[in-house]
Amino acid sequence: MLNELRQDPISGEWVLFSTARAKRPHPAGEMPFFQSKGECFFEPERMAQQEAPTAIYSHGQMVKDLSADWTTVVIPNKFPALKHGVCGSTHHIGPFTTADASGFHELVITRDHDKSFAQFSDAETAEVIQAYRDRHAEMTEDNCGEFISIIHNHGRLAGASIYHNHSQIISLPMVPTTIIRNLETSKKYFEATGKRIHDELMAWEIAENKRIVYQNEQFIVVCPYVSQSPYEMKIFPKMAGSNFGNITDMEIPFLANALNVALKKLSTALNDIDYVFFINTAPLKKENQPGYDFYQWHLEINPRLSIDAGLELETNVIVNTVDPDEAAMILRDTAI
Ligand SMILES: [Zn+2]
Repeated sequence: MLNELRQDPISGEWVLFSTARAKRPHPAGEMPFFQSKGECFFEPERMAQQEAPTAIYSHGQMVKDLSADWTTVVIPNKFPALKHGVCGSTHHIGPFTTADASGFHELVITRDHDKSFAQFSDAETAEVIQAYRDRHAEMTEDNCGEFISIIHNHGRLAGASIYHNHSQIISLPMVPTTIIRNLETSKKYFEATGKRIHDELMAWEIAENKRIVYQNEQFIVVCPYVSQSPYEMKIFPKMAGSNFGNITDMEIPFLANALNVALKKLSTALNDIDYVFFINTAPLKKENQPGYDFYQWHLEINPRLSIDAGLELETNVIVNTVDPDEAAMILRDTAI
């Protein structure tokens, strides 16, 4: 069984080999996507067959066990891409660098079999964000972790293998190349101008006022000027902060509201389209290391309208067929 991270020495990109994941009950794309309640592994009556929960919530409150009327539960993945264990060091083999795939891989599961994020109330979404934040805090304590990834895949084209609504929290023993690149660019900009690049981008979006989909007191939703995919949205906090883990109890309902509005508009305008969302945040700050004050955490929503073809795979030059100004106008005008 191969469970290892390998780095491409030329591009610097990491690949996570996890052959055990091929044994999942429904590898993505191999089954009709809908699964009935009767065959669903995330139903309350089958929860006992899963790993022991790491966090349980009932209507916004953390509770101790599953006998409560749970509404959100976090469990270790039965088919983890990474395994929690001894802190792995990097190894060198021939011209390559490899690392043990050590880390956490947890699932955040919401109760209702047929309800996905676009049907949630603000309070239901807030509970999931609370779970993200609580587990992020716990995983931050693990010295092996360098970066925590929080992802939700909606639908088959988004790579989901299980129909029942869930998100994944994965702690990685290395910082992904994309994040390293983002940090380097942001740091350079800050050193050259004394300003944070994310603040500059937001100020420009607000001044232009063409691509704003929605905003509340604490968060703003935009279709970025350089959108990677049609109808892409980014949700930015109005308060500066590099680390999602520092989101406060006061801010969570506002993020939940912004995410809820964005996903309801997307699903309504584009007929329940498949999408992924993830939280883009700074790496975990280690003791005696400088922080990432020049960076801004945010949330990205990427609808899956097209599949990457040769040009994208070879060059990373993405072809986007929708003008972000128009995407924002359509989403803004969609009544929810
Ligand atoms: Zn289910």
